[in-house]
Amino acid sequence: MINPTVEALLVLQERDVRVTALSAELEDSPEQIAAVDAELAAKQAKFEEIKNRTRLIEADRKKIDLDVQSKQAAIARYRSQQQTTRKNEEFAALNHEIEHTEKEISALEDQELELMEAYDKGLATVALGQKELAQAQEKAKLKKAELEKRAAVVAADMAAAKEKQAEAEKAVPEEAASRYRRILKSKKDVAIVPIHSGACGGCHMKLTSQTVLSAKGAEALVACENCGRLVYWLE
Ligand SMILES: [Zn+2]
Repeated sequence: MINPTVEALLVLQERDVRVTALSAELEDSPEQIAAVDAELAAKQAKFEEIKNRTRLIEADRKKIDLDVQSKQAAIARYRSQQQTTRKNEEFAALNHEIEHTEKEISALEDQELELMEAYDKGLATVALGQKELAQAQEKAKLKKAELEKRAAVVAADMAAAKEKQAEAEKAVPEEAASRYRRILKSKKDVAIVPIHSGACGGCHMKLTSQTVLSAKGAEALVACENCGRLVYWLE
């Protein structure tokens, strides 16, 4: 036989567990939504970095291009100086400068070609990144909508669960209810547990035969001598 207070407490405990689980889920929800936002922001930042890197390649190429232009202008200057000089030595020195500058231009143009190739690759990476980012944005939007919908369902379930919890609480005599609440507060998980093979279902310590007998008799509430949880005899 089972004590009617125990029976009422078991119903209350079941509903308490449900309310606790729902509130844990509700508490998690904003964090999960924030995690989706953070993941997307990280992807966005990575994409911006790729875009910047590509932009820098083009900026470098433009700088080199300006350099080439100024060296070409220098060659033009040397040539016009050659036309006005009458000294062979000076003419030869200018020739030497022209050759040297032409070599520099050629090296710079090689660099420019490399940068152009790198820029093309960069543009392709940016285009791909843009596509992937758009997909990630869409995915994040759906995930957030799903999480928000779930949170609304949980909130509704919570309202119903709290009503049932209050109902169950009313069915428990006041003194037993406050004892149960005290134990639950200190144990966090459950306050009333079945006896399994003569041991407490909460802390698993062996109960005295007197405690087991009292629980079997089901005349009053019986507690585990070790953890203080209420114990009941499971037929
Ligand atoms: Zn115990």
